[in-house]
Amino acid sequence: MTKPLENDLHQFFYDLHQHPELSNNEFETTQKIKKALDQHHIKVLDLPLKTGLVAEIGQGIPFIVLRGDIDALPIQEQVDVSYTSKNDGVMHACGHDFHATAMLGTAILLKEREHTLQGTVRIIFQAAEEVGTGALDVIRTGVLDQAEAVFGIHNDPTLVSGIIGCKEGALTAGVDRFAIRIQAKGTHAARPQDGNDPLIVVAHIIQVFQTIISRRISSDENAVVSLTQVHSGTTWNIIPDTAFLEGTVRSFNTQTRQLIENEIRQILKGIEQTFAVKIDLDWQAGPPSVTNDSIWSNFALQVAKESNLQYREVEKSPIGEDFSFYQEKVSGAFIMIGSGGPYPLHHPKFKIDTNIVFPSALYLSNLAESALGFLQKKRK
Ligand SMILES: [Zn+2]
Ligand SMILES: [Zn+2]
Repeated sequence: MTKPLENDLHQFFYDLHQHPELSNNEFETTQKIKKALDQHHIKVLDLPLKTGLVAEIGQGIPFIVLRGDIDALPIQEQVDVSYTSKNDGVMHACGHDFHATAMLGTAILLKEREHTLQGTVRIIFQAAEEVGTGALDVIRTGVLDQAEAVFGIHNDPTLVSGIIGCKEGALTAGVDRFAIRIQAKGTHAARPQDGNDPLIVVAHIIQVFQTIISRRISSDENAVVSLTQVHSGTTWNIIPDTAFLEGTVRSFNTQTRQLIENEIRQILKGIEQTFAVKIDLDWQAGPPSVTNDSIWSNFALQVAKESNLQYREVEKSPIGEDFSFYQEKVSGAFIMIGSGGPYPLHHPKFKIDTNIVFPSALYLSNLAESALGFLQKKRK
């Protein structure tokens, strides 16, 4: 027998899944969440956010924050279910529909216990996580000021359905994106000596970049350098003028992150001189590594145990998460929830096991309530 709230949450999840919206365009999603919160008389803060919103339950201090993201991805869904995406080319392939629904359930459950809550819980329904800017937009509103802890969730299809996973220290990677433009000199393919071939330069860049991890990073460290786009040329008998490359760096601490960026800059400078071309580097620093506080990550696992859920310490993952921006302001923990697989995040066949929706909401409401109790006790 499913409980009425469990049933409502499933319906809400199906609705979000059927109508996914891309980052910064989550207008309908935001309205749906707001409507559901209103129906349960849950306060929504008046903030200058284009999309996404923040709910508030309880009052006074201590004050803690929960965060779920709400945006979808530009992927054509290939899952055949009754609630498949109706928005062509857009899909909840990262499970943010589940995160939003679990946070809605959490808000409703906390509202039911509002008179016994020992402080305030703000729940962020965050837009634009996939483009790495949503968290910063929320932080700028000041909504986290004076918060004493922050918790976020992400589903993990590599974990058993419903299991709660956490670890102290680095959990996700710092993400950098770079684009490289090479200005060389085009010529007839039969007369390469009259030009300056950018493809030779591209070949060198690809080769030398792969020595950064193997020759510059200690074996105790993990990092990734991936080149993901190469564009140059128009046909078979012309040596082109220009070439373009794009890629990403993933790292788990600030020193390694800086070292790799320095290496890339130095390598490009050397290649530029060697081949007498002009190389422009456009470096876009994304979110840093999600780094969990040891007290709060153990606390999250302890609450899972007390909630009779399976739980385990997890491995770190090279994905990026803008939750790390919140942790730069407030200590806290990012928690993984097993979603059963078999397909990975961002896959057109990715699917959430809906059985985890209600237990996740229940867990998160227990976590928020216990965290307030813990902070209150520390005060006395
Ligand atoms: Zn994602
Ligand atoms: Zn995600």
